[in-house]
Amino acid sequence: MSDTTRVFTYALLTALATGLGAIPFAFVRGISPAVVAWTNAVASGLMLGASFGLVAEGTGHGAWETVAGATVGVGFILFTQRLLARSGVRLGQGRGPGAQRMLLMIIVMTVHSFSEGVAVGVSFGGGMALAAAITIAIAVHNIPEGLAISAVLRPRGASLAACVGWSVFSSLPQPIMAVPAFLFVEAVRPALPYGIGFAAGAMVFMVLVELLPEAFDRARRAPVALIVCLTLVAMVVFQQYL
Ligand SMILES: [Zn+2]
Repeated sequence: MSDTTRVFTYALLTALATGLGAIPFAFVRGISPAVVAWTNAVASGLMLGASFGLVAEGTGHGAWETVAGATVGVGFILFTQRLLARSGVRLGQGRGPGAQRMLLMIIVMTVHSFSEGVAVGVSFGGGMALAAAITIAIAVHNIPEGLAISAVLRPRGASLAACVGWSVFSSLPQPIMAVPAFLFVEAVRPALPYGIGFAAGAMVFMVLVELLPEAFDRARRAPVALIVCLTLVAMVVFQQYL
């Protein structure tokens, strides 16, 4: 398998993982808010843990460049949020009448996937161990996003296949962005710490501004915090042994 094919395959797998979020809706019409909060907490811990790996790798290629990249990553998330803010929709919390809310939900999720595709792509520039960690973190993070999309679509009469399809669709920017991001940091090696910093900044900021507030809104704080801590530590330990 060529490097490019491998990057595309891994990023496609993370996109397909989003479809897993639709599966519970084969059995139930709705998901309890606490379950959504706990899956968000698992995703948050994995993403924060994977970000440690990113910063450690990026620092090896250039500390200031990593910090600069992280700042741009935070800026990118702020920019996409502002772009979407006019619609009045936050991740996982569409408002407004049915069809409009479904459409906005899918748009928000899809736009937000771009930086995750970049994260998967640049992580391959830092070696397979880092790439595996980021791929796992993003894939698991995608499952509650599929849950959130399906939770909006399913009660409005969408078929299970449509829920899976739109969930996967919302993550298609990941395989689409991962390959050019990877090829770029491979061709322009000095860009690698910036790219890795970007991925770390975008992921940490997304956890803090989107995933954790939503989790704390929907479930008791202590179990959410405990899940984040344990998955974070497990992810850091896992990366030490890869
Ligand atoms: Zn996401």
